[in-house]
Amino acid sequence: MFKTIIAAAATQSGIDLNTGQLAQFSLYLELLVHANEKLNLTAIDAPAEIAVKHFVDSLTVYDAKYFPAGALVCDVGTGAGFPGLPLKIFRPDLEVLLLDATAKKLAFLDRLIEALQLPGVGTCHIRAEDAGRSPRWRERCDVVVARAVAPFKVLCEYCLPLVKIGGVFAAMRARRAREESAEAKGAARLLGARAEEIKEARLPGRADARAIIYLRKVKPTPPSYPRKAGRPAKDPLP
Ligand code: SAH
Repeated sequence: MFKTIIAAAATQSGIDLNTGQLAQFSLYLELLVHANEKLNLTAIDAPAEIAVKHFVDSLTVYDAKYFPAGALVCDVGTGAGFPGLPLKIFRPDLEVLLLDATAKKLAFLDRLIEALQLPGVGTCHIRAEDAGRSPRWRERCDVVVARAVAPFKVLCEYCLPLVKIGGVFAAMRARRAREESAEAKGAARLLGARAEEIKEARLPGRADARAIIYLRKVKPTPPSYPRKAGRPAKDPLP
């Protein structure tokens, strides 16, 4: 039953999935619905809605030109895996790091990754600010993605330090994307990035506007950023 639901959602959105990917999304859906009863991982719980509002929505961040073969992609504040895990299923050659500050969500993802038998995807229990200050992660990623984690300017401070020079930060935003991007221009520049593109995204059967903001990292982030955990949200950059 889950396979039919996924297949319908993908077809409606013009996304091509092979049998293996269909099976993986279907297992993801099954385990998510099951785990959600106990863990409250998502507010959306009808399988058909999860297929569209989480799986298909996650894939709207995808654009072949920003995701080179074998790229290291970090999903900051991944929650139940969105958008990082659908991206990994869709493009298995990507190396995907699912980062979150909440351990119970990552424990679910670890079980899921094992069940999906997907190599090249892992979880990391850390705050984005701490990851950005750690030599292990700082300026290492080709692409950083994020959906629904923090106000855009705050998100820039969480994510841009992780992006390597020449790489991209792709932020999934709602209807205020253009204003947010304009408001964060100074912060983005300070962190070493400039706006590259804002792409409208639509979900089948839904009228609400959404957009992906792509920022390009053009120079190193100064060593004083990101500030200590908690500061970016409490005192956003000007
Ligand atoms: N991206 C997912 C989850 C959004 S909920 C989705 O779109 O469905 C926001 C998630 O961000 C939560 O799981 C929370 O633990 C995580 N988060 C918030 N602030 C964070 C930070 N500073 N560092 C790491 N994770 C953070």
